[in-house]
Amino acid sequence: MKAVAVVTGASRGLGRQTALTLGRMGYRVALNYLGSEEEAEEVAREIGENAIAIKADVGDLEQAEKMADKIYNKWGRIDAIINNAGITKDNLLIKFDEKEWDEILRINLKGCFNTIKVFSPFIIKSGGGHIINISSYSGVKGKEGQAAYSASKAALLGLTYTAARELGEYNIRVNAILPGYMPTEMGKTSEKAMEKAKKDSFLGRLSNPEEVSEFIAHLLTTKNITGQVFCLDSRIV
Ligand code: NAP
Repeated sequence: MKAVAVVTGASRGLGRQTALTLGRMGYRVALNYLGSEEEAEEVAREIGENAIAIKADVGDLEQAEKMADKIYNKWGRIDAIINNAGITKDNLLIKFDEKEWDEILRINLKGCFNTIKVFSPFIIKSGGGHIINISSYSGVKGKEGQAAYSASKAALLGLTYTAARELGEYNIRVNAILPGYMPTEMGKTSEKAMEKAKKDSFLGRLSNPEEVSEFIAHLLTTKNITGQVFCLDSRIV
């Protein structure tokens, strides 16, 4: 039976590329999105009969639950979830809007808690599998203007370590990735930050969704790696 992977936030950027890479490798892929229906359906069409696009706000437990049920009912197994959906909204700490802080934490952090909570029982029923959380270099080093974003991404590492400890006995391997600075829609919002990331990199270049998605695909083939954080660019962590 073909393995089933779920990619959250798969309408564009890293999520889109990860869905395409996994689709090409023969996975059945469930592409989650929230607002960009057309784009997500287009990615699903590109993959073909092994893909479905599912609208759900990952920050809402009930919607995450319905998404997990739908995928399991369709394909009868779930082997991997890539927690990629994320947002950012930058401002200096003292000017930071409380509602925006809450929304960033709700999607980036609670969204991962929600999917781990609702998908893990299905992964266990399927004999084990992988959870990959997309964190960020900002979560480890901090970044001006990104108090909420970096806090959410740092917290994801704690969530990753704890999930790896709790779920290891069920053969669920949980790892986190710091993908490096990628020129996606999110990455392109700050030309200055992009230039700085390039300058701080030993190799003098940015990361990219293709290479990150290949790494994710490789990690999904491993059996003995859990509770780890992988940095995929050339800045010092
Ligand atoms: P992006 O281009 O902005 O794409 C974000 C994706 O998340 C979109 O598909 C969006 O879908 C989805 N999304 C947002 N809120 C959602 C929600 N509540 N429920 C479901 N889906 C939701 O971002 P990206 O650059 O590809 O980033 C992907 C991940 O990598 C994020 O977690 C980001 O924090 C992380 N990351 C990015 C960089 C970078 O340099 N770009 C660096 C480090 C880490 P809709 O449009 O349908 O809402």
